[in-house]
Amino acid sequence: MSNLKKFIRRKFDGVLIAGGGVAGCAAAIGAARAGAPVLVLENGISLGGMASSGLLPLWMDGSDSPLRRELDARCAQCSTGPVERDRGLDHECMKIVLEKWFDELGITYCYNSSVVDAKTGSDSVTGAYAALPEGLVEISAPLLIDATGDGALAAAAGVEFTLGRDSDHACQGASLAFEVGGVNLTDNPLPDCFDVPFETPHGNAAELARRELTPPAGHLILHHTSVPGVISANMTNAVGFDPTSGRERTDAIRLCRRQIEEIVMFLRRFMPGFENCYLQLSGSEFGIRESRHFHGRHTLTEQEILAGTVFDDWIATWNHFPFDIHNVTGCGLDDNGVLDGFPPDRTYTVPLRCCQPETGTGLLLAGRNISGTHVAHSSFRVMPICLNIGLGVGIAAAVAWKKRTLPELVDIEIIQQEIIRQGVVPPNR
Ligand SMILES: Cc1cc2nc3c(=O)[nH]c(=O)nc-3n(C[C@H](O)[C@H](O)[C@H](O)COP(=O)(O)OP(=O)(O)OC[C@H]3O[C@@H](n4cnc5c(N)ncnc54)[C@H](O)[C@@H]3O)c2cc1C
Repeated sequence: MSNLKKFIRRKFDGVLIAGGGVAGCAAAIGAARAGAPVLVLENGISLGGMASSGLLPLWMDGSDSPLRRELDARCAQCSTGPVERDRGLDHECMKIVLEKWFDELGITYCYNSSVVDAKTGSDSVTGAYAALPEGLVEISAPLLIDATGDGALAAAAGVEFTLGRDSDHACQGASLAFEVGGVNLTDNPLPDCFDVPFETPHGNAAELARRELTPPAGHLILHHTSVPGVISANMTNAVGFDPTSGRERTDAIRLCRRQIEEIVMFLRRFMPGFENCYLQLSGSEFGIRESRHFHGRHTLTEQEILAGTVFDDWIATWNHFPFDIHNVTGCGLDDNGVLDGFPPDRTYTVPLRCCQPETGTGLLLAGRNISGTHVAHSSFRVMPICLNIGLGVGIAAAVAWKKRTLPELVDIEIIQQEIIRQGVVPPNR
């Protein structure tokens, strides 16, 4: 018998959340505030996912929510924080703030804990297997949320999914974010969006990036951070690989890491203010934009987003973001992406059914892995919307836990009342 078949058995009577990233943290906070015990299993050694270990400072605008505002306010109070607090959420503050917040709410979290398998019954998910520092642990729980981004738990439970876009399963390009220090931006602006012309004394920097950088690198994405002289670069790019394959993903990470050197040289040579910049830090979470789209009880479409659909079973409201599809074969925006021209006042809701897998009762999805089309996903994948989704899903799970039932058996209005009680503004019908 293989040693791996030996495992420790534990029971957790509450909401078990796989993944402590953007959606997982929101789900944990929502569930704890709704009165359920919460256990979060996180692969890495910090909370926040792409917002902390992924080094992303810019929470895309458009989706205001009370939880987002509370996160901003808590980060602004963080004593270790930098001075330019309005220039992005600092990843190091985020780690401290989220841990303190979890401690305050009595949320249990376990780092270096990777969910590797699902415990299943007939059409139900009843627990998770996780590789913890002490070994392989089976944790039974009445309600589980998969907030791992790639959907490790749902995939292991056998929930059907589509990888990437329907036609060829190609996924949006992935990036390893990094930061450069030593930047002098006193008189030098940054490009305000990705793939827009940006004039420099050497010419249009967007065109220069395409000409000078080795494909599939070639686009210019630079964001302020809250630390003076430090700029976040989201310019590495890996395409044409399967993000759910360990081997292919490792090759993609290697490729991105090697692009960093060339990109730093490019910035020094062509970008005003970057003449003395140096690599300061690279992400400890690889930036996968897209992987598994699980098949849920409803699949959110781009048409529903554009129509601003208000679903009866909404759990996330006032979401707004264009269709930001990164090229699946090279750099820049995909032909089907719509950054300009997306209706500025169009907000949409996300229904609970998108977070309920077609099979596997007891399991909910939260974050970028919910059920949606390739195009719809390019909108809801941004951090503020994943936060909103996570909050709603955590609350749905907690309300069901308190009633000792499944979320689909709870009157949706009771879930929505708790979401509203936690400060979310209901949609206009
Ligand atoms: C390169 C890149 C740039 C982006 N830029 C922006 C931007 O500028 N602004 C914006 O708003 N959005 C941006 N996004 C989108 C956004 O960051 C993500 O889509 C969003 O963070 C997804 O949230 P999530 O909670 O689903 O996943 P994540 O935030 O990735 O969290 C998933 C968590 O699960 C953990 N995990 C994974 N597998 C396991 C497992 N098996 N067991 C336990 N834990 C596990 C991970 O360690 C992680 O902490 C970007 C995305 C990428 C990839």
